[in-house]
Amino acid sequence: MTSEKKMIRKKLKSAAAVSKFMADYYYELSAASESGNPKIAWCTSVGPAEILRAMGYLVYFPETHSALLGATRMATDLIPEANALGYSPDICSYLTADIGAFLKGVTPLAKIYEGISGIPRPDVLVFNTNQCRDVQDWFSWYGEKFNVPVLGVYTHRNVGDVTNALVSSIAKQMQELAGSLEKISGKSLDLNTLKHVIALSRECSELWKKVLQTAASQPSPLTFFDATTLMGPAVVGRGTQKAVEVFKALHSELEDRIKNGEGAIDDERFRIYWEGMPVWGRLRAHSELFAGLNANVLASTYCNSWIFSRLNPEDPFNSMAEAYTELFIVRSDEAKEKYVRDMLDLFKIDGIIYHDAKTCPNNSNCRYGMPQRLEKKSGIPSLTIQGDLNDLRLLSDEQTKTNVEAFIEQLEERR
Ligand code: SF4
Repeated sequence: MTSEKKMIRKKLKSAAAVSKFMADYYYELSAASESGNPKIAWCTSVGPAEILRAMGYLVYFPETHSALLGATRMATDLIPEANALGYSPDICSYLTADIGAFLKGVTPLAKIYEGISGIPRPDVLVFNTNQCRDVQDWFSWYGEKFNVPVLGVYTHRNVGDVTNALVSSIAKQMQELAGSLEKISGKSLDLNTLKHVIALSRECSELWKKVLQTAASQPSPLTFFDATTLMGPAVVGRGTQKAVEVFKALHSELEDRIKNGEGAIDDERFRIYWEGMPVWGRLRAHSELFAGLNANVLASTYCNSWIFSRLNPEDPFNSMAEAYTELFIVRSDEAKEKYVRDMLDLFKIDGIIYHDAKTCPNNSNCRYGMPQRLEKKSGIPSLTIQGDLNDLRLLSDEQTKTNVEAFIEQLEERR
């Protein structure tokens, strides 16, 4: 019988450098917001950040802020504020929590970073619909609130092959976007600066990939739950030298763990893949639940979302278009299943957890038969847990615990 034990969380030393990176990032934004210089662009998490950075904008990512609302467990109480404006409790709880926080005049940034009183004021908001339509609605609401322009890249969804025709249509939109941004900033886009930023972004992405792939070692030096708290520089810092340095140090620490045979959890017995969003308000509880059962949730689709291997400084617009379209979330089920199967092999996975996040169908891949198809092809069993990224009313901790324990028991019986 699988028994749950008390576990001790092993902290990575590099976590302090990641925290410092995030603090510097938010202080820089806060100072720019107060002084009005440099200009600030809000961007979706897999939006065209490289163009914005190359044009001298500081870039703020509302999704990261909303994840923080989730992780600090502020989100659930704020969601009804946005519901009252007509934003349904069933739509993205990043959107509803973030707008709710704005309406209430609260932010976790003020609690974490002394001297920061609010989110940075945008000069322009830029979204890419590659991930969902919710980001467009979210940014449009703020555009009206702040009376600033909202610009978008419209990406096709459910994409099978990323064809040249698709890539050219998105690259063209990105070029037009750069033109609009030039008018707002009063500065023109320097191609060499863009190439430099793309090179840094690619380097950051490759390092993040290497960090995540250390989890292929047995035992894995990394957990998915660690990765969600370490990925900030890949999201908000891609295109900067500082993000590159932070990930070099993190990768080297993980390599040391591998050399010393040190796993992220003690006695790793089961290797688990997480498909879907994290439950931000339960990161610790979930990490302890799995580790207590000697199960290491060590790889995920979610954390891989900030790997942009197609970025190529020599072909800036086409490569950005390709990188931001070949992402998992943009793709057809067939392409997604192939991707997950490759991950199962790479990470030597024993079982898959699907998180059915009630308010994010875009990141919940268990609703159209994928778990069953993948199990048939790979022989690897799965468990679907019901929950949400931010709205804690949509999950049952008891149910999750019982189901996870039974699932690990099932894996044990298969041995
Ligand atoms: S992908 Fe999901 S969580 Fe992310 S912004 Fe869209 S609806 Fe929200």
